[in-house]
Amino acid sequence: MTGLAVQSHAATSTRPRLTVDLASVARNTRLFAERAAGTVMAVVKADGYGYGASDVARTALAHGATWLGVTRLDEALVLRDAGLVAPLLSWLNPVDADYASAIARDVDVAVPSLEHLSAVAATPGRARVHLHVDVGMARDGAPPAVWGRLCRAARLAELRGEVKVVGVMGHLGCADDPTDECNAIGRTRFSWAVDVAHAAGLRPRERHLAATAATLADPRAHHTLSRVGAGLYGIDYGLGPERGVLLRPALTLTAPLVQVRRVQVGTAVGYGHAHRTDRATHLGLVPLGYADGLPRAASGRAEVLVRGRRRPVVGRISMDQVVVDLGPEGADAGEAVTVFGPGTCGEPTVADWAAWSGTIEHEIITGIGARVERGTLAGTHLRSLA
Ligand SMILES: *Cc1c(COP(=O)(O)O)cnc(C)c1O
Repeated sequence: MTGLAVQSHAATSTRPRLTVDLASVARNTRLFAERAAGTVMAVVKADGYGYGASDVARTALAHGATWLGVTRLDEALVLRDAGLVAPLLSWLNPVDADYASAIARDVDVAVPSLEHLSAVAATPGRARVHLHVDVGMARDGAPPAVWGRLCRAARLAELRGEVKVVGVMGHLGCADDPTDECNAIGRTRFSWAVDVAHAAGLRPRERHLAATAATLADPRAHHTLSRVGAGLYGIDYGLGPERGVLLRPALTLTAPLVQVRRVQVGTAVGYGHAHRTDRATHLGLVPLGYADGLPRAASGRAEVLVRGRRRPVVGRISMDQVVVDLGPEGADAGEAVTVFGPGTCGEPTVADWAAWSGTIEHEIITGIGARVERGTLAGTHLRSLA
């Protein structure tokens, strides 16, 4: 049903469109909810990895997630404005962030340093905080050397009624490779951090370390809460099928052919004449370029689906457009091209685009530009088929 709808939607197209199949997000969420030892936080940062934060949040909460997570406070406030009332954590903010709004809107904040703690504690009201420990990435979170002081200061702030420590969080740097010893070190450091918090008198209800990869591959990292982002969107870090996990990617990017021309053999195409046709053929123009999220690095490798067949993108990917070699058969202006999709109808996948560009799927899905129209595969398309 779903695949049929995508196909049908792709047959004609008037403008570039990114279609989100929320049924896949629902299915992926249920899978993580069953798998996690604790509960699931749906990570919907960066506009739900490009899927639409509030649509994904609503879907995930209806299918087994109980928490929401974002990086910045402004992302959290957008979710509150959209009427989402679930527990919600924001974990990456500058010291002078708007903590008054966090308190007023019931948004939990991560605290990675004494400076952050002071700022949060000085804000009127009582912030709900998750102390954030760096378990071995030298990225965000408090280094172990200051963790004890941070916990003791947080306990004093708690006794003064300035904060309530509801969680301790960490993040693993190598969870996508379960054999890497970095994982055991990270788990040990996290357990130590929880013990130190307890010794300081703190009683955090939530302890969370695992993101998608560790939730799939490392039950010892689960604790009370798993922060799952990529997995909701069908990205399994290569940890899926061998663990009986089949996630479903849920984005389809389509665009119309705006122009089709017949050309002779040897025709130079695009900037720098990076491609020359090796036969008489048809070239189709697709109004999507690197400003819309098609990485220029995929030039010379990328393909799209036209009339059920893979066709190569030829010449350099420009800012706003690409040229597709449609072959001797050609196609008509106005026909839809599928740039990527779940792969069920032969179209390229997000994973293909990531490979062609030398990057990861996350960067492809979060990079789709603002001028691409968004829609969900629900309601209208399905109804129009019925
Ligand atoms: C993005 C992020 C996550 C989610 O990671 P996925 O691999 O996408 O599941 C979890 N925790 C933190 C701290 C993050 O920044």
